[in-house]
Amino acid sequence: MSYLSYVNPTATSPWHTYLAQVDRVLPYLGPLARWAETLKRPKRSLLVDVPIEMDDGTVRHFEGYRVQHNLSRGPGKGGVRYHPDVTLEEVMALAGWMTIKNAAVALPFGGAKGGIRVDPKTLSRKELERMTRRYTSEIGIIIGPQQDIPAPDVGTNAQIMGWMMDTYSMNTGATATGVVTGKPIHLGGSLGRVKATGRGVFVTGREAARRIGLKLDGARVAVQGLGNVGGAAAELFGQAGAKLVAVQDHTGTLVNANGFDMADTMEVVKRDGAIGAYKDAERIDNEAFWDVDCDILIPAALEGQITPARANRIKAKLVLEGANGPTLPEADDVLADRGVLVVPDVICNAGGVTVSYFEWVQDFSSFFWSEDEINVRLDKIMVDALKKIWDTADRHKISLRTATFAVACERILVAREERGLYP
Ligand code: GLU
Repeated sequence: MSYLSYVNPTATSPWHTYLAQVDRVLPYLGPLARWAETLKRPKRSLLVDVPIEMDDGTVRHFEGYRVQHNLSRGPGKGGVRYHPDVTLEEVMALAGWMTIKNAAVALPFGGAKGGIRVDPKTLSRKELERMTRRYTSEIGIIIGPQQDIPAPDVGTNAQIMGWMMDTYSMNTGATATGVVTGKPIHLGGSLGRVKATGRGVFVTGREAARRIGLKLDGARVAVQGLGNVGGAAAELFGQAGAKLVAVQDHTGTLVNANGFDMADTMEVVKRDGAIGAYKDAERIDNEAFWDVDCDILIPAALEGQITPARANRIKAKLVLEGANGPTLPEADDVLADRGVLVVPDVICNAGGVTVSYFEWVQDFSSFFWSEDEINVRLDKIMVDALKKIWDTADRHKISLRTATFAVACERILVAREERGLYP
């Protein structure tokens, strides 16, 4: 399935999942399928060594990556992940999903992703800054406001984007706010960016629920990962009358059939960065999370969580993929057979990069919008994109995932064809 000599995907690895998803869309691409191989190879992958001096005087080396998967529709765009399990292959898959995602919401970007194989929690603030600055310098040869624009992902945040912006600017000799998005507000960041991914999960979830006749008022929601994405989505579902009945994060799994108190939940998460200390809920075995009685399930952590076995146990009617790549292809089939609707990552979590696009536009024009303007525009883009995907799924009788790939791949491959092969 992968023809690349430098990766060796296993059946459950993210790049394998991505390739299987591309294979499923091929029958719907018509003559454009001629260009489809483009989607199975990242255009450019940069692997860098990131050496830093630790606070105790020792020197440590970290493995860093930046992959530009496809640039047919514009500059590369996608986050940077700091996680101990990051690999080139994972970053390739995440970059591929960015290509699809950006095209699915018609942003003028290609797809890219970066990462460092590190547990950022084990570094001091100064070490984190040194590592970020050295990584930015190393990938500085391929990033830029018109070339490739990083942003936060798992394990990175606004402060890290601030250091990246400063490092790039120092190296090029001019303040370049548009080189990264998800920056602090005072450095050209955008209002609404922090919660944008979660807001997009809510908007696509609201629309999907309406279409299948699922009322949000009283709906029971289970969330895996209460970080930036899952936390913001849970809050918005709470405001719409839904109740949070189960939460899983790295500290364990908690359930409360009567609903968590949202204000308390968010306070604990803000204080501890985890749900573990929340009092008013019962602790259950991690694996039992997948059996919880709920209407809406939001995987908002890492890849490969919904295996075929777990897909058979899920009680929800609606799965909203806040994370990238949480569902294995065979599990997609199980969920479809069981009548569980999946709003796939490549549209469900596109709210983050959509507001990143707003940030990039605002930086260029040095004219900043109100939070209301941003949220209204985000809502409209997500609703319109989902409508087109829904209609495509209806027309071909295919899943929302394959429909999202069909809409996106048509845009990408038409651009590919119109640009032409160089030379
Ligand atoms: N890391 C986010 C994602 O996976 C956002 C990327 C961006 O804003 O460029 O969509």
